[in-house]
Amino acid sequence: MIHTGAPAVGPVNVPVVRTSTVRFPDTETYAAQHHRRAAGERVATYGRHGTETHRALEAAVCALEGGHESFLAPSGLSAIVMVFLGLLSAGDHALVADNVYAPVRRTDKALLQRFGITVDYFRPGREPLAQLVRPNTRLVYLESPSSLLFEVIDLPALAQEARALGLIVAVDNTWSGGLFYRPLSLGAHLSVQAATKYLAGHSDVMQGVVTVDSPALGQRIQAAYDALGLSVGADDAYLVLRGVRTLEVRLTRHFANALQVAEALAGHPAVARVYYPALPSDPGHAVWRRDFTGASGLVSFALRSPDPSAGARVIDALALFGLGASWGGYESLALEAAPERLAEHGCWDRAPGAVIRLHVGLEHPQDLIADVEQALRRL
Ligand SMILES: *Cc1c(COP(=O)(O)O)cnc(C)c1O
Repeated sequence: MIHTGAPAVGPVNVPVVRTSTVRFPDTETYAAQHHRRAAGERVATYGRHGTETHRALEAAVCALEGGHESFLAPSGLSAIVMVFLGLLSAGDHALVADNVYAPVRRTDKALLQRFGITVDYFRPGREPLAQLVRPNTRLVYLESPSSLLFEVIDLPALAQEARALGLIVAVDNTWSGGLFYRPLSLGAHLSVQAATKYLAGHSDVMQGVVTVDSPALGQRIQAAYDALGLSVGADDAYLVLRGVRTLEVRLTRHFANALQVAEALAGHPAVARVYYPALPSDPGHAVWRRDFTGASGLVSFALRSPDPSAGARVIDALALFGLGASWGGYESLALEAAPERLAEHGCWDRAPGAVIRLHVGLEHPQDLIADVEQALRRL
């Protein structure tokens, strides 16, 4: 990640090449470039196709994910939309894990349903795919660990089942930043990330990326990107590439900090349950140990208090943890997981109290633990 997509000599960094179009010396060269692009080469004839700044970032993420090709998108959600619209047509059916990143359900309602694509939500590991597939099922869309409760799935087993049924498997890999988990090596065909989170790592840019394992899938993702008229600014691509250079250092620290915070929470009398797969008490721990090489800074915990306002009281008392959605930057954040969202998660059981999701940042772990402990004292 330090060297991939970077120049070997001269300036250390890839230049930020901003342009809305590309000029050619003569019509023959222009036609030849169009031809190469039509044949699937990642060459640009127009600004929307991106420049060498974009290609350098795509090369780095592709190496990280161990894929064939990567494609940038203007946000994580738009990368997910590229997967659905690139792979599904009217009349097709997809199976989506019920603990999926919640806005995917909005995309389903607002877009997929209107275009005749149907989605069923299922509980990974609890419902065999063979009982859920229809003759028109094309895609299984998963996330591991899931958003909010970080439920780990047995991807090798699920992917094997899906492949035997002729289905394409896509996995949202945002949680691991691509560093701690490689879905393509475990049977998935596509890996999607919100680069907004750990790849960028500094809470200053929105971006997404899709990595595919074959040229055929790449053409379909590229076609969706083109048809949707998407574009990623060169400055934004540069910011994410800059984040990628320090991904390993940052994530190692997020992991170390989060583990300490999770352990402190697990031993706290006000806490009913901690959701963090790196804790041996977590139901996903064994699969996490087998398939992952680390854990992210996301830790959720359920309060023992039955008081519905307890979650808000704890969050409002936190000083170092900002209150906000998103995560993956250097700073710590806290958010209450909405009960209606948690109710959609049928995969694992949960404790009855309010659930708070922390993103553990790069502050000193003792400062973070002290902050959480003083906030819990308000209960
Ligand atoms: C944030 C997030 C997304 C969406 O990314 P945006 O860049 O905010 O659109 C997708 N999946 C997961 C798991 C996320 O956490």
